[in-house]
Amino acid sequence: MSPATLIVGASQAGVQLAVSLREAGETGPVMLVGAEPHPPYQRPPLSKAFLLGGTDTAKLAFRTPAFYAERSIELITGERVERLALRPGTAEGSATTSTGRTLAFDQVALTTGARVRRLAVPGADLAGVHHLRDMADAVLLRAALDAARRVVVVGGGFIGLEAAAVARTLGKDVVIVEASDRLVGRSVAPTVSDFYRSAHERRGTAVLLGSAVARVLGDAGRVSAVGLTDGTELPADLVLVGIGVVPRTELAEAIGLHCDGGVVVDRHARTGNAGIVAAGDCTAMPHPTTGVGLVRLESVANAVSQAKTAAATLAGIPPPAPEVPWFWSDQYDLKLQIAGLSTGHDESVVRGDLDAERFSVLYYRNGAVVAVDAVNSPVDYLVVRKALGTGAAIPPDLARDTGRPLKELLVPAGPNRGTHTLDL
Ligand SMILES: Cc1cc2nc3c(=O)[nH]c(=O)nc-3n(C[C@H](O)[C@H](O)[C@H](O)COP(=O)(O)OP(=O)(O)OC[C@H]3O[C@@H](n4cnc5c(N)ncnc54)[C@H](O)[C@@H]3O)c2cc1C
Repeated sequence: MSPATLIVGASQAGVQLAVSLREAGETGPVMLVGAEPHPPYQRPPLSKAFLLGGTDTAKLAFRTPAFYAERSIELITGERVERLALRPGTAEGSATTSTGRTLAFDQVALTTGARVRRLAVPGADLAGVHHLRDMADAVLLRAALDAARRVVVVGGGFIGLEAAAVARTLGKDVVIVEASDRLVGRSVAPTVSDFYRSAHERRGTAVLLGSAVARVLGDAGRVSAVGLTDGTELPADLVLVGIGVVPRTELAEAIGLHCDGGVVVDRHARTGNAGIVAAGDCTAMPHPTTGVGLVRLESVANAVSQAKTAAATLAGIPPPAPEVPWFWSDQYDLKLQIAGLSTGHDESVVRGDLDAERFSVLYYRNGAVVAVDAVNSPVDYLVVRKALGTGAAIPPDLARDTGRPLKELLVPAGPNRGTHTLDL
């Protein structure tokens, strides 16, 4: 008999996993269980078009109910899986949900994502202090933004910056408070961090770096200001806390799976138990290019590609070829596109014009290109993404010749060296 599969978490990774299982020919029951009340939906617009008011909740759904029904994917929403019980030495067992339902399964996939990290300071639970992870958060934040005049964004990561851009576009006074010495420091090089700081400042937002929040001050239970450790008080009627997320690993831990900054999986999305896979924001996996150390990638691209791999593993078919990691962020009219992982780079080349807000930064390790951050430069992004996928080189001394388009500077992999123009 075909195995029954339980997928815990119905979002980007869970939906992809269910769909890919069917595409792989799995005919057994597939139960996709999500704690949120809505059908699965896209999160990226929550800090972009949706927050700006350009789209409504119904438009965010990945698929119609008919899509799941046609594929015999049993979509269960509004129910949290609270407990997994496994038959010893197997991946079979049963799950208990928050409504008391029991779901029997032969194999299980964890796609539980992440929850927001909360500010641990006095006043952090005052009315007017918001977070942004799911649709419910975004609906509340959007309504609160309408009424707000002074917004403090705590945290200069992508979500904080995107929300800050929306708030400023809506005409609010905005201050970004970041504890480290640069914006989006975990993801981009200092050149790009500096660029984003200037870009936000040019548009009228104050950016405070190296600034830690000591307390949130209130008046009649509502936020009135944010107090910094240096004594500064920033008046605010809305505070958005965007200080990162924590992977949801509690179910995995309870059944004894190895977790280390995420549910630890291998290249095949397998946990320590061969019949249990995990994918998306909840996982920590070997570095996709070096294989050294564990990384947790919070991106749509990773959730999708890891879910495809996890589905292939469960279905017992070869996994798809690994994909080059990629990511995007939209702030104002600035589209950032990232391909590859720049961590550990030892050299970088900047092409284009930062003042014109159109440039790319290529990152190198031991002379080999490993990543690109491209701002309003989609062609550079595509060239590097393709090079990373095909193993072509873009030698740094050639890349410095900014008079020539990047796509003319590729040196294909293999014996047929010599520069080559990429067909995009
Ligand atoms: C505001 C915002 C903007 C973003 N913008 C971008 C972007 O521009 N580009 C990009 O690449 N990425 C972006 N991301 C990141 C991207 O959305 C995530 O990487 C992606 O959603 C991860 O998918 P996931 O399925 O792994 O986890 P999640 O989307 O976190 O989903 C996990 C789901 O599992 C459910 N769940 C957890 N535990 C249980 C349980 N025990 N029982 C049942 N259900 C459970 C949760 O309720 C949740 O619905 C953004 C994220 C946010 C929040």
